[in-house]
Amino acid sequence: LFAGPVDFVKGVVHMDGLPDADRIEVCFAGRSNVGKSSLINALTGRKGIARASNTPGRTQEINYFSLGEERYLVDLPGYGYANAPLAVVEKWQRLLKRYLSGRQTLRRAFVLVDCRHGVKAVDEEIMKLLDSAAVTFQCVMTKADKVKEDDREAILTQVRTALAKHPAAFPEIVLTSSEKGDGIATLRAIIAGLE
Ligand code: GDP
Repeated sequence: LFAGPVDFVKGVVHMDGLPDADRIEVCFAGRSNVGKSSLINALTGRKGIARASNTPGRTQEINYFSLGEERYLVDLPGYGYANAPLAVVEKWQRLLKRYLSGRQTLRRAFVLVDCRHGVKAVDEEIMKLLDSAAVTFQCVMTKADKVKEDDREAILTQVRTALAKHPAAFPEIVLTSSEKGDGIATLRAIIAGLE
């Protein structure tokens, strides 16, 4: 589906460090522990590839992965670390704002939401940022295997209600389980289909 190598490219801490904007990219955002690394591993088929983003010191970086020759997958730092120092949080928010509003080749953001928890206040914050940067974002529900099918509809209703308030939200929600593989092919196809 992605012709060419899938690899970790680099971690970026400053706008000057971004790779040349010579191909389409998508970014992934989500609260820490939402299952972002697991999802990136599942998407790329490379177990452990996203571990780099979770090691201390890398968590405040924007991590670039190549999806073949034509696309980048961008792993944004997990947010919602309650005990991160304010200066660190502010620095990363500045970088994030600049990245989201200045990256011409960014086609879509995927905002990850845990199936058990739904959209939280910190998720609303990132959605507002995406609205103001006019970056279309799509909600990806993670850990679907942890919620019984009968209980999913209530969460999806909460998520749909939250999304309705955001002009940049893409209406279709993707339900995934990195553990079971649900939704992974769908998400790959969405990324491959972006132009
Ligand atoms: P990150 O902090 O967002 O990168 O989250 P991780 O990918 O490290 O996942 C956090 C925890 O959730 C880990 O214990 C994972 O094993 C678990 N997890 C992630 N995805 C799934 C999933 O689809 N199903 C289940 N049952 N657990 C998951």
